[in-house]
Amino acid sequence: MRTGYGQVGGKIVFLLLLPCMNSSVIPSSRLPRTGTTIFTIMSQLAAEHGAINLGQGFPGFPVDPALTERVKEAMDQGHNQYAPMPGILSLRELLSAKLRNSYGQVYDPTSEITITAGATQAIFTAITALIKPGDEVILFAPAYDCYAPAVELNGGMVKWITMSYPDYRVQWDDVKAAISPRTKMIVFNTPHNPAGTIWSESDVLQLQDLTRDTEIIVISDEVYEHIVFDGMQHMSCARFPELASRSVLVYSFGKTLHVTGWKMGYVAAPEALMKEFRKVHQYNVFSVNTPAQYAIESYMRNPDTYRGLADFFQRKRDLFLSRITNPVFSFVPSAGSYFQLLQYKGADHLPDVELAKKWTVSYGITSIPLSVFYPDGLDESVLRFCFAKDDDLLIAAADALNKIS
Ligand code: PMP
Ligand code: GLN
Repeated sequence: MRTGYGQVGGKIVFLLLLPCMNSSVIPSSRLPRTGTTIFTIMSQLAAEHGAINLGQGFPGFPVDPALTERVKEAMDQGHNQYAPMPGILSLRELLSAKLRNSYGQVYDPTSEITITAGATQAIFTAITALIKPGDEVILFAPAYDCYAPAVELNGGMVKWITMSYPDYRVQWDDVKAAISPRTKMIVFNTPHNPAGTIWSESDVLQLQDLTRDTEIIVISDEVYEHIVFDGMQHMSCARFPELASRSVLVYSFGKTLHVTGWKMGYVAAPEALMKEFRKVHQYNVFSVNTPAQYAIESYMRNPDTYRGLADFFQRKRDLFLSRITNPVFSFVPSAGSYFQLLQYKGADHLPDVELAKKWTVSYGITSIPLSVFYPDGLDESVLRFCFAKDDDLLIAAADALNKIS
């Protein structure tokens, strides 16, 4: 029997813990340097301490009942068995029209669009389908945390390009220098999580030029495509035909419809790439939630359901920033995504991970430290705050931040 102290309902209590089973096998880990994700760690800590959780990125407000009602309708209408492997055709047709209208690129709904169990599965499946042992993959740090483990699990080698606070601009000469005959893939993400930056047209054109006449495949993580602020435009790879011809575009309904827990997304790619994608998709998930697909298709037929997202989140960003008056923080307003970075310039010289933990415990405000998104743990005292929350919570969060010294 093991014993220990733990927290229950905010109180420290003495616990009797059930014994764990002794494993008769200690596997040789395929991800020896990987622990539990920072999102899980910080959300758990926030729950334990009753802190305001602006760490893990998820909306804190209710979903439109018109959407949830459609799930019930789909279930009642009998849409409860396996969907076709690539997703229901009517949803793929709708997404094809949406991509054409937004970015001018035509994706054949039968062979070039697949519905996935969120963007994470889409990215893992794409990397697994397209990366072989020894292939090199260029990633930009800070990088969303699911890219590198997927490359590593498939025997690929990551080559890192570093971007840093405050503008997180890509040095394209560094990318050029990093490309070798073994470079098989470049993964990029705009609007960017965790930086809250967006790529300009010139960035995407440079990527297009560097990859022209190569065998390099691009994975373009565009899950925040509709959350771009201050009148700027989202630079999808799909806007650039030469780049689109080598790109796998990844999207998430979780971000667009405020339903991160549904784990629904989709991928668009030219047929030859999609053929390989589906070979893996059919065995790691086969098909995804049927009633949710019918509900999303019927709901998104009205583009107003997602057209107002940028304004909606820009107002929240501005509210949050307008309330932060503490001189220990500096920031550049987020250009896209629902994340805002703050750089801490106070007297506490703790590593950013320790700052995030300390602020959760002592000030009741939880964030995500940026150093975890760098392979070498680059620590610029920058912390990420999710502003996809109710206004009252954002005001309370800013009040808590104003108390930090
Ligand atoms: N890419 C980025 C940049 C993300 O921020 C997220 C989730 N926040 C994902 C991929 C994963 O999306 P999903 O929840 O649909 O798996
Ligand atoms: N994508 C979300 C974020 O960036 C978290 C997703 C997760 O917990 N894996 O915060």
